[in-house]
Amino acid sequence: VASDESSRTYDVVVLGTGSGGKLAAIELARSGRSVLAVEAGRFGGECPYVACVPAKSMLYSARNHLSWLDAVRRRDEVTDRRDDEGSLRSLTEEGVEVRRGHGRLGPRLGEAHTVLVDGALGAQVEVRARTVVVATGSSPRLPDLPGLDVVPTWSSVDALSADEQPQRLVVLGGGPVGCELAQAYAGLGSQVSVVELADRLLPRETPWVGRLLVDVLRDDGVQVLLGSAPSLARPDEAGPGVVLELEDGHTLTADRLLVADGRSPNTEDLGLIRLGARVARSGGLAVDARCRVLGPDGEPIAGLFAVGDVTSESRFTHSANYQARVATAEITGAGFDADYSAVPRAVYTDPAVFCVGTSSEAAAEQGAAVVTASFDLADVERATLAAGAVPPPGHRTVRGRVELVADAASGVLVGASCVGPEADSWGAELALAVRARLGVHLLAENVRAFPTWSEAISLAAFRLDRELAGRHARLPA
Ligand SMILES: Cc1cc2nc3c(=O)[nH]c(=O)nc-3n(C[C@H](O)[C@H](O)[C@H](O)COP(=O)(O)OP(=O)(O)OC[C@H]3O[C@@H](n4cnc5c(N)ncnc54)[C@H](O)[C@@H]3O)c2cc1C
Repeated sequence: VASDESSRTYDVVVLGTGSGGKLAAIELARSGRSVLAVEAGRFGGECPYVACVPAKSMLYSARNHLSWLDAVRRRDEVTDRRDDEGSLRSLTEEGVEVRRGHGRLGPRLGEAHTVLVDGALGAQVEVRARTVVVATGSSPRLPDLPGLDVVPTWSSVDALSADEQPQRLVVLGGGPVGCELAQAYAGLGSQVSVVELADRLLPRETPWVGRLLVDVLRDDGVQVLLGSAPSLARPDEAGPGVVLELEDGHTLTADRLLVADGRSPNTEDLGLIRLGARVARSGGLAVDARCRVLGPDGEPIAGLFAVGDVTSESRFTHSANYQARVATAEITGAGFDADYSAVPRAVYTDPAVFCVGTSSEAAAEQGAAVVTASFDLADVERATLAAGAVPPPGHRTVRGRVELVADAASGVLVGASCVGPEADSWGAELALAVRARLGVHLLAENVRAFPTWSEAISLAAFRLDRELAGRHARLPA
């Protein structure tokens, strides 16, 4: 760890070294700039230790019928037992100076920001930075539920680092994290219930996606309670567990209550209010298309950038990485505007979910005229082959669907929702199509290999292309 950086001026100080901060720090050091990376927790952030990586590891272990103990062993291997030495080294090897501690912005002095770092045992260091990149991520949000503080609750971090398996687990929230952890724990043998306020899972996606996932999780043995609001959590009098009371009078008893009810950007205690940084309605820092933090007048604050979950944009590792590239390009003089129109939203359940762009419902809310077409995955040849036998008529071997959304006037693809085996991977061509504003006709004409799941894209695109052509033919000349 750098020893005497007090009162030094760096070209860049990066606060937080998760996916976004780490990539920005490395790219900026590679460009020849002096960079200090400050980290309050683990170098490398959440994704490799307590989020994406262990969640996927547990899901795949469950799918491969590993025992709980083997799944935990595998999870601990892929997360380096949550030891961040490797991440720290990958920064220093690239020439980034590092310091453990909580970083915060002080007053701006001339051309530079001051940054205060509170280290261990009350040690405080003050440095200067021409540019600061805020990459402090987000934290699990606790709902306003009476009793939550006196019962054994888990956040996703606990659920992804626990050594002991709860026999009974209640998951509060049916978003991506709730669905993935519910399927993983159920697959590893826990009795799992999911409580979701909406009438389906994944409520931010087009409705059929979340309804399909309800069927999937129920078939996996998960109890899915929809339209359910919890009213009280209390200790179980019969044991060390928790009782969750629902507004409709139902109660659930479990060993653990996993709160997967969303996340809040880490904007507190960063000295940003004094600088006038604007917080968007989502709770994240408002940034412009170059990831510059916006001030009260809506103009960028000089020398201040933000990337990743702390911003008001989408919260994924790939978004954090993308924003790190956007900010780095701007800082190094090769700036370009970020385009979030085609950021994939993937959920790694089996079957997986891959959504991109707009849904027909979101388009309708914005008053945009769109046309949709879909194709069922069970009707492509791959489904029959994957099943290993020809299914009897009417019997579905594979659950999944591709739905495409096109702008009615231009015929350009503006969104897609896919559910199916490994849709997280084969859906990617649809993200490119949305980003490139590809016409549906070309999407339909494109030749896909036989027999793959992506033939469903061709078949949905043929339908959509026909529908668009029919509409145009019906239009008055
Ligand atoms: C269970 C789960 C599964 C997920 N799975 C996926 C997935 O499969 N794919 C995907 O794309 N996304 C996934 N995500 C989301 C993904 O983890 C985040 O979007 C990503 O980690 C955000 O990266 P970041 O750099 O913004 O922040 P983080 O990774 O949170 O890093 C922020 C860092 O900043 C540090 N910090 C905070 N405040 C300070 C301070 N004041 N000073 C210094 N350091 C500070 C923190 O200690 C932390 O290390 C998942 C999330 C969860 C919870």
